[in-house]
Amino acid sequence: MLGNWELGIGNTPSLFRDAQSDKEDAKRAYYDLHSKELSNLYNMSFWRSRMTDQHKEMRSHPNRSPEWIPQEILKVREQRENDWLQLTLEDSEWDATYTGWSSWKDGDKCNCCNAAREETRLRVKQELDGNGWTYNARLRYGWCNFCTDIMQDKISSSVKLMMPCIDLSAFCEEAGKIK
Ligand SMILES: [Zn+2]
Repeated sequence: MLGNWELGIGNTPSLFRDAQSDKEDAKRAYYDLHSKELSNLYNMSFWRSRMTDQHKEMRSHPNRSPEWIPQEILKVREQRENDWLQLTLEDSEWDATYTGWSSWKDGDKCNCCNAAREETRLRVKQELDGNGWTYNARLRYGWCNFCTDIMQDKISSSVKLMMPCIDLSAFCEEAGKIK
């Protein structure tokens, strides 16, 4: 008689593998749909280039800087970022409740370096004093002022990994024909 192992019952490694490949498929599908936006998540000039003539006219308002990007474009960017985080990070690596400018809730810690608010507040004061908007300790997606860059690099790398490989052998063959 076959044991549970042979029948594949309770065979957790294969269940895990299935969940894992489902996640990979979802990542691939999402990337294929939005590759350009995902590759430019942190390149704000890409998002600025999506402004219509009407947007540009709105930008000329005296209260707006040349850096201004309309909310409707930023919303799309935020949605792509949020979806990608969900597809690529573990739950413990980020906190979806911290989007935009929400303030740091008591007791919460940075999901990346584990620093508490007070600790980060002091560090911001010492290291970034007088540096405009970075003056306060803040969490974005659960990452403190000092970890945001690290996590953005991580996200950018995970997007780059999805890029299709260029087959150089085909290219060399073509180049050979031209000669
Ligand atoms: Zn941190």
